[in-house]
Amino acid sequence: MEEVKDKCVIYGTKIAGKLATATGARIEKIIESSHKRGDDIHVSLQRQYEANKDMTITCHHNCVSTYTSSEHI
Ligand SMILES: [Zn+2]
Repeated sequence: MEEVKDKCVIYGTKIAGKLATATGARIEKIIESSHKRGDDIHVSLQRQYEANKDMTITCHHNCVSTYTSSEHI
């Protein structure tokens, strides 16, 4: 399993910038948005999250805001 911590969970290393840490509710929101979008971000994320609800992910605030915004789905 990939355990790289210094890249954005949504856009990987494609976008530079300061990474933030997200937990719990935000992770669930990303998983939910991924389902709606029909991409595969939720596949590994959901598996990891169900195994460990205290997990954290790294991502940019902007990426999460855009990704989970219903206007952009
Ligand atoms: Zn990002």
